[in-house]
Amino acid sequence: MHVPPLPWVFHHPSSRLQPMPDPSSSRRPPSVAAGLCETCHHRRLVPNTRGSVFSLCMLSRTDPSYPRYPRLPVLACPGYERTGP
Ligand code: SF4
Repeated sequence: MHVPPLPWVFHHPSSRLQPMPDPSSSRRPPSVAAGLCETCHHRRLVPNTRGSVFSLCMLSRTDPSYPRYPRLPVLACPGYERTGP
């Protein structure tokens, strides 16, 4: 089953993701797309109890060269595997 990418955005310098703000809002914070992780098979979205969502790299569990929560946006990654068909 194909799940379309969610409209998450990244707020530097953490790996916290937040829902895309209303484009008509004049108080919109600066944002950057999450990059390759958005469409990677190894990414899991991890919500916390305060409503934030973090981008977890599952490769970090078996390979310490991958950060658990990569600094976004990830523009190049040797572990990238596109999810879906
Ligand atoms: S393997 Fe690379 S692109 Fe995929 S989730 Fe991990 S850091 Fe992101």
